Amino acid sequence: MTDETVFTRIVAGDLPSETIYADGTASAFLDANPVAPGHTLVVPNSPYRRLQEMPPEEASALLSTLYELVPAIERAVGADATTIVLNNGPEAGQEVAHVHWHVIPRFDDDGTLVEYHSLLEDGLDESERASIADAIRDEL
Ligand code: 5GP
Repeated sequence: MTDETVFTRIVAGDLPSETIYADGTASAFLDANPVAPGHTLVVPNSPYRRLQEMPPEEASALLSTLYELVPAIERAVGADATTIVLNNGPEAGQEVAHVHWHVIPRFDDDGTLVEYHSLLEDGLDESERASIADAIRDEL
C-alpha cells in the first residue's frame, strides 16, 4: 500500500469532491476530468496500488459497491450502458496508484471509448457536476 494518494485525501474529506457513496471500505465520487457525464470512480478507502494487493474480502466488497452503483449511475444520467474499467498498474495507464474502477456512462452512437476519447469537449462546470452527483445519490 502507499501511505497517501489523492484518493485517500478525498476519502478523508481533505480534498473536495462530489462524493456519491461512502461506507467503511469503499467510496465513490465523480471523476474530476469526466469523459462522459456521470463518470464515477469507485475506490477502496485504503490505498492499495493494484487489485491483487487487496484482501479478497475487500475486493469483493468493492465489487458489491460497484454492483449497486452502476444501475443508479445509468438511471441518473439516462445512459444506455456503461464501460467499466480498472487500469491495473502504470503500464496499463494507471495514473493514480490507488485501485479505482472507472464507471463511464455510454450512450447510443457515442462512438468508441477504447482510448478514452472524450465525450465532453468543454467539460462540466461545478453546478452541472453537483446536479449529476445529486441525481446519482437520489437513485441510490
Ligand atoms: P487512471 O488513469 O489512474 O486510471 O485514472 C485516474 C483518474 O483520476 C483520471 O480519470 C482523473 O481524472 C482522476 N482524478 C485525478 N485526480 C483527481 C482528483 O483530485 N479528484 C477526482 N475526482 N478525480 C481525479
